[in-house]
Amino acid sequence: MTLPEQPTRPRLRDASRKIPETLRPAFNAYVVEHYRGFLLAINLIAAAAYYAYVFADFILIPDMAMTSLVVRTSLVAWGLVNIFLVFRYSRNLLLLDLLMPVHDLICAVAWFELLKRSHSPDIPTFVYASVIFVLLGNLGVRVSFKGIALISLLISGVVIGNVALLHPNDPKALLVFVVVYLPVLFFSLFIAWTNVVSVRRAFLADQDERWQQAQLYDLNQRLQALAITDALTRVGNRRAFDQHLHERWMLMEQQGQPFGLLLVDIDYFKPFNDHYGHQAGDHCLADVAGVMAQCVAEGELFRYGGEEFAIVLPLDDHGQLTALAKRLVHQVQALGIEHRHRPDGHGVLTVSVGAAMCNGGAGQTAAEVFEQCDRLLYQAKQGGRNQVAVAP
Ligand code: GH3
Ligand code: MG
Ligand code: MG
Repeated sequence: MTLPEQPTRPRLRDASRKIPETLRPAFNAYVVEHYRGFLLAINLIAAAAYYAYVFADFILIPDMAMTSLVVRTSLVAWGLVNIFLVFRYSRNLLLLDLLMPVHDLICAVAWFELLKRSHSPDIPTFVYASVIFVLLGNLGVRVSFKGIALISLLISGVVIGNVALLHPNDPKALLVFVVVYLPVLFFSLFIAWTNVVSVRRAFLADQDERWQQAQLYDLNQRLQALAITDALTRVGNRRAFDQHLHERWMLMEQQGQPFGLLLVDIDYFKPFNDHYGHQAGDHCLADVAGVMAQCVAEGELFRYGGEEFAIVLPLDDHGQLTALAKRLVHQVQALGIEHRHRPDGHGVLTVSVGAAMCNGGAGQTAAEVFEQCDRLLYQAKQGGRNQVAVAP
């Protein structure tokens, strides 16, 4: 008995650079589930940090202090509304990921407008604080490297352009600023790249684990099915019968649903095997099982042992049970499988049946009903075979 072939494992490692289109919806759902909290936190932290810098403005550009307070309050209030709307209503990954860097860019523009309007002597020192814009933006993203690279470029344009405007006649000061700024830009872009890649890797590892779990589950299901199936006749085996009888019995006790139990045994099967061969015997078993399965479509058929079968099916009364048992005997005989070597000279293959109703009456147990059916089967054999014996 062999198991069906396993499907090939998706080559997820190949996808570590770019998420394939087919996995996009799963990737989006994964990021929203695992990183939405982080992205929301980084937005709020950035807003708080931006607002806190009003103190630095009070100390270093005091002539712009009140304007700074108004500008920062307005920007933070507007930003918080955006954060609320985006995180409450949007599932768009790009929007969730790049909201903070976009706010960051706008805040950088606003801050330099304050610096340009101030006459403070501390401005050449204070401009160095602007590295925080590019640092914060780059460290906050988790999904879109292209997006953050573009925004970084824009922030850098704003920062370096404005620093140049603030030092119109001092190329050395601008050069020193750029020398300090560029390593911060590239370092933080590199960290952004590693963050984006590790989110992809985490997602792919999660996918792989899910795939493995699905495989295990599937294999387990198939093994369980194999463990209770008879390989020759494809009906349930004895283990399945024991389990099913137990369950059916419990159901009868709890819900009062009666059922019939039938034991079927092929008549003179040993001489059949001896004369026609074991292979012909196997075919015969499969044919008999097939025709009986059709007869009891609303019940369950099991191969209980060598050439013995058991049937469990819902029935209301003794009359229905007898009719079914007789139909089984008739249908097997109607198969017309030649059997010239049986001692009674009947000529075709037949079965005998012992059957009883299970309704929990007189404190009966499943084992007792089974033994009763076995005795009745013996009775049918003694009575001449090709017949039924049903419990009164
Ligand atoms: P009775 O009418 O009293 O039931 O007689 P019988 O010959 O059918 O009973 P017996 O128990 O003497 O023989 C059962 C035979 O079933 C013995 C064995 O050769 C055959 N048998 C059991 N399992 C298989 C099987 O898987 N394949 C084949 N081909 N034969 C089997
Ligand atoms: Mg037997
Ligand atoms: Mg037999």
